[in-house]
Amino acid sequence: MTTPWRATILTLFPEMFPGPLGLSLSGDALARGAWSLEARNIRDHGIGRHRAVDDTPAGGGAGMVLRCDVLAAAIDAAAPAEDPRPRLLMSPRGRPLTQARVRALSEGPGVVVVCGRFEGVDERVIEGRRLEEVSIGDYVLSGGELAALVLIDACVRLLPGVMGKIASGEEESFEGGLLEYPHYTRPREWEGRAIPEVLTGGNHAAIARWRADQATRLTRERRPDLIGPRATADRP
Ligand code: SAH
Repeated sequence: MTTPWRATILTLFPEMFPGPLGLSLSGDALARGAWSLEARNIRDHGIGRHRAVDDTPAGGGAGMVLRCDVLAAAIDAAAPAEDPRPRLLMSPRGRPLTQARVRALSEGPGVVVVCGRFEGVDERVIEGRRLEEVSIGDYVLSGGELAALVLIDACVRLLPGVMGKIASGEEESFEGGLLEYPHYTRPREWEGRAIPEVLTGGNHAAIARWRADQATRLTRERRPDLIGPRATADRP
């Protein structure tokens, strides 16, 4: 038996985990040991009687910064140097998370995820512990925890046996470089809207063609950037 995919989270709010990941398919898979999750409190490595984890920014300015010594101690206790898992720091400055990166992470041994708070973390721990900064989008959250939940959810659903065939297909949004085609189910007619005829006709080649056309149309309309610069080069 191979060791299950392992997520270790470093956070000031371990009670936020597993949170939504404890429900539904990810929760079932967690309960049966298909993956594991450990949330560790950074404050356990805090300084002094008050277990301080942050301090004022060098150079002045608003807010507080997570201390590099505290964070490094937390990282070293959770994941010693020989731990093969990538060390990620959730950060709006990071490389935006993609389905390709999610798939690669899900095929590895797991992740160590550091959740920032306040203004962020002392730059030296990013360098000294080789943290890879990962963003979940161009907006600012108040902490890395929700971002970590997003990243782990996206990875866990790809693990073997977690979603069965559903997530293994190449047809989902982003997997083929395109957004997914529209779905329909019963009733056949609803408020005057019918399911597109091709989908109820039983011609599988025609259905595949229709879905591919729809995926291309939707991607062109909504996310031309996914199709590449050539798709938009002629437009002003
Ligand atoms: N002052 C920082 C923002 C800090 S937000 C800046 O301007 O870049 C506090 C923490 O929330 C961050 O350290 C990070 O861990 C997390 N966070 C906020 N937005 C995020 C995003 N888009 N993706 C991933 N993590 C994010």
